[in-house]
Amino acid sequence: MQKNVFLGLGSNLGGREAYLEKAIEQLNADVEINVLARSQILQTEPVGDLSLPLFLNMAIEVETSLTPRALLAVCLDIELANGRKRDEKWASRTLDIDILFFGELIIDEEGLTVPHPEVANRRFALEPLAEIAAMYVNPVNKEPVWAMLQRL
Ligand code: ADP
Ligand code: MG
Repeated sequence: MQKNVFLGLGSNLGGREAYLEKAIEQLNADVEINVLARSQILQTEPVGDLSLPLFLNMAIEVETSLTPRALLAVCLDIELANGRKRDEKWASRTLDIDILFFGELIIDEEGLTVPHPEVANRRFALEPLAEIAAMYVNPVNKEPVWAMLQRL
């Protein structure tokens, strides 16, 4: 079981909190995924288009026996099961699940980049992550989560 797998969850449409809770429930229901820790839910400003509704964001830690690819597929399935429509990038969404970190792994493939390429620039990802994993070190830039957050 790989621990230190961190997921960022977000929602800015509909019953936002319920979507986040459903995501956690459905991830945990997968026999190959255990949810180990969860941050609080934070309300955040949308990045880019400030006219979009406010987001709720949180971070969770899971342990999993899935490969990163298989975990991504599960995350995308759960997004779709919760009404996610994929139109433009940056559009409002009922549920977004991003793989922020997968242990020490560094992956740069078509359709899957880990650590998430924007994680170091996104307060809405780092702030909840710091609640559950402040000391976790980004394998790419070797910075702990708390330091990445401080730099923003
Ligand atoms: P965003 O989260 O950036 O707003 P989407 O949720 O629509 O965008 O995701 C678009 C694609 O990003 C997904 O289909 C997935 O293949 C790809 N992707 C690449 N790296 C990751 C990652 N670390 N976590 C989640 N999705 C990723
Ligand atoms: Mg996403």
